[in-house]
Amino acid sequence: MQVTVSQMDEELKQENARLDKMVKQLLHRIEDNQQIQTHFQAFELKIFHCDELADLLEHLLDKAQQHFRLDAVSLLLNDTDHLMSALLEQQELSDYGERLQCLYEPAFFENTFIVRDSARLGSLNGEQLSQVFPGCNGIQSSALLPLVRHGEIIGCFNLGSGDAERFSPAKSADFLNHLALVIAVCLENGFGREHLRQQGRLDPLTGVLNRRSFSDEMERELARVQRYGHELSCCFIDIDHFKQVNDEHGHRSGDNCLKAVAGKITDLLRKTDILTRYGGEEFVVLLPEEQKINAKRTAERIRSGIENMDIQGQDGQSFRVTLSIGVASLDFAGTDMSMAGEYLVSAADEAMYQAKNGGRNQVCVADAIG
Ligand code: GH3
Ligand code: MG
Ligand code: MG
Repeated sequence: MQVTVSQMDEELKQENARLDKMVKQLLHRIEDNQQIQTHFQAFELKIFHCDELADLLEHLLDKAQQHFRLDAVSLLLNDTDHLMSALLEQQELSDYGERLQCLYEPAFFENTFIVRDSARLGSLNGEQLSQVFPGCNGIQSSALLPLVRHGEIIGCFNLGSGDAERFSPAKSADFLNHLALVIAVCLENGFGREHLRQQGRLDPLTGVLNRRSFSDEMERELARVQRYGHELSCCFIDIDHFKQVNDEHGHRSGDNCLKAVAGKITDLLRKTDILTRYGGEEFVVLLPEEQKINAKRTAERIRSGIENMDIQGQDGQSFRVTLSIGVASLDFAGTDMSMAGEYLVSAADEAMYQAKNGGRNQVCVADAIG
């Protein structure tokens, strides 16, 4: 069959038109991508410029929803050491409700992100939806962004849409992965700065002295013991079965309990006594110029004061806790005091363990030290 010149012309024209269309489509895609990129960059720049943690959270939990035209946004933080929740509480930043959750077990993150450094796009099942977007209806597709720093998942930022196609698994996650990295860096910085600010002297949750400042206080008191021959006593206080408080009443009730216990102990002490949050649910009190017999009375007052105190739970119901307390005293002004502080605290700690072994909710006194 012979092909005429005009037929060839026609075919070439068609081919040309097809190529033209393809190039136009490609250009459109590039333009769209550029627009998306500009949109993502604008948001990333904004969060880079957030100096305060409060500002950063507002951008992530309020402004992101508008900026990206989403139906739901949430942030879950991997908070196994309870540090982030304490900082949020102290800064009164916990009122984002369930859009901002601190998880104390890493299981959710480990199960959700088998591939650690890539966003997970697609639809979620009912259980996942209620964990990630509690109380939000009509979420058809979502992008869960793992926030990774130094190889650890510190949390995940979640975008939800009522449009099933918006975050379909076939879509590229490049922009989202970049956004995740920026958010992870900003959050790490935000919490880090806040942590440093509050690390000064006070425990952010209870407002009493923290353990770091305890050694300074101890040094000062030991110098007085040496100089004036004063006595110094110490109480090691541990809340009984505190894990059960968290398990039965929830972590926020546990936090309320720590605050209430610290507040009540402060009320029962003299102004010159020194209360420190020594660890999770452990407090140490230094009682300057207090002999063992008086220190025991003080400890007993604290024990019974807490035993009879109602603590408000997060569900509105109140509950009570008890304390095990160990008391120890330094009753001489020795010459070598270099280890005296450590001996005093560890003797009080051992006495506290005796109180635990004796059935809890009691005060035990250590033998003389020195
Ligand atoms: P025991 O009577 O032997 O002292 O038992 P316990 O449950 O009090 O002791 P355990 O050491 O098993 O548990 C302490 C718990 O305190 C575990 C930890 O999750 C919790 N915890 C530590 N810090 C905080 C905090 O800041 N807030 C809350 N809510 N819980 C905390
Ligand atoms: Mg303990
Ligand atoms: Mg305990």
